[in-house]
Amino acid sequence: MAQTRYDLLLQGGHVIDAKSGTSAVRDVAIAGGKIAAVAPKVDPAEAFKVVDVSGLYVTPGLVDMHVHVFAGTGEKGSYAGDNSLYPDGFTLRVGVTTVVDAGCAGWRTFADFKDRIIDRSRTRVLAFLNIVGNGMRGANRPPGALEGTPPYEQDLADMEAKPTGEMALQHKGVIVGIKTAHYEGPEWAPVERSVEAGTIANVPVMVDFGANKPERPISELLGKKLRPGDIYAHMYSGLRRELTEDGRVNPGMWEGRKRGVLFEVGHGGGSFAWYVAVPAIKEGFLPDAISTDLHIGSMNAGMKDQLNVMSKFLALGLSLEDVIAKSTWGPARMVKREDLGHLSVGAPADVAVLNLQTGRFGFVDSFGGRLKADRKLVCEMTLRDGRILYDLNGLARPDWETLPKGYRTTGDARWDGYSRR
Ligand SMILES: [Zn+2]
Repeated sequence: MAQTRYDLLLQGGHVIDAKSGTSAVRDVAIAGGKIAAVAPKVDPAEAFKVVDVSGLYVTPGLVDMHVHVFAGTGEKGSYAGDNSLYPDGFTLRVGVTTVVDAGCAGWRTFADFKDRIIDRSRTRVLAFLNIVGNGMRGANRPPGALEGTPPYEQDLADMEAKPTGEMALQHKGVIVGIKTAHYEGPEWAPVERSVEAGTIANVPVMVDFGANKPERPISELLGKKLRPGDIYAHMYSGLRRELTEDGRVNPGMWEGRKRGVLFEVGHGGGSFAWYVAVPAIKEGFLPDAISTDLHIGSMNAGMKDQLNVMSKFLALGLSLEDVIAKSTWGPARMVKREDLGHLSVGAPADVAVLNLQTGRFGFVDSFGGRLKADRKLVCEMTLRDGRILYDLNGLARPDWETLPKGYRTTGDARWDGYSRR
């Protein structure tokens, strides 16, 4: 077999790459797991394998910055257990190549999370480390706990900035932020200690602002407590006065945005309402990142998956380019992984090939409201590090009748990622 310059050529697709500002028909060549060329025309004779993707969109592998994937511990009622999902079944089939776990593990449990999930998944898994040392274990209490012991996530004594920040430093680039979530008390301590940990590790803090408490209004969180680059989760939930009574975006949200606080969708099972998103977007309050908040309560409900959430934003009037940007380069920058979320030459060849279908579709919010739409994104193909891990219609595969009798394989390790190494 003659040596070729490229391992794989995706030919004739419409490339959307926010970092370079490209939205045009381009060939994408891949070599050694990296993007090797993006050009109006690449000579197919220089590629070992050529796949025709004309009529489809070619984008960076999608980055979902809010998921819950600490599965397999067996703990009931816990995001470090039964509420989480193994990532690979929910990511690659919708073009997602990178996810960021939103605080399922804390510094006490991160080693287990890394061994159990991060090191064993084909999806690239990054993490926000929970400020709670025990992580996101819901209303559970330590086994044999005395009467009156607070549940893990309400235990201020287990929210320590120093060990949290130090664990994040030890896993730089994998732990990409600090998370505080679900706190029900009136204190600011969970937010303040998260910011302290984030400062130690030089990473952003993501805040799920928990129960709405008059002692800690959203305006103070966004106007004073958070730093530029910190992230407000569940921006269209309406649970913490994101909209005021007259249906306008809370001035505190605008104030936060002016200061550089960033906002993510975090759709989930209870955090996305049309009656919040529609007026907010009409007022111009768009997300910095489109994300799922994937977990057992959202996977089969209104949320479904990253492409379904992206399609909702198309239906809300955002351009396809904008929706792709907010699902690739936007979130990659927010977690300071600027090596990801784009198709620059030399970048890891994480690629999604998407089909924008037209038809009669409907999108459901977290509370059962439907919005009719006529366009929907579907994933045709997903590549991680240059290998095809998912290929809905077999675009990369030969017709079976052309193959030798009794064929057992059709791929090559240079591009084929079907089988696990
Ligand atoms: Zn979440």
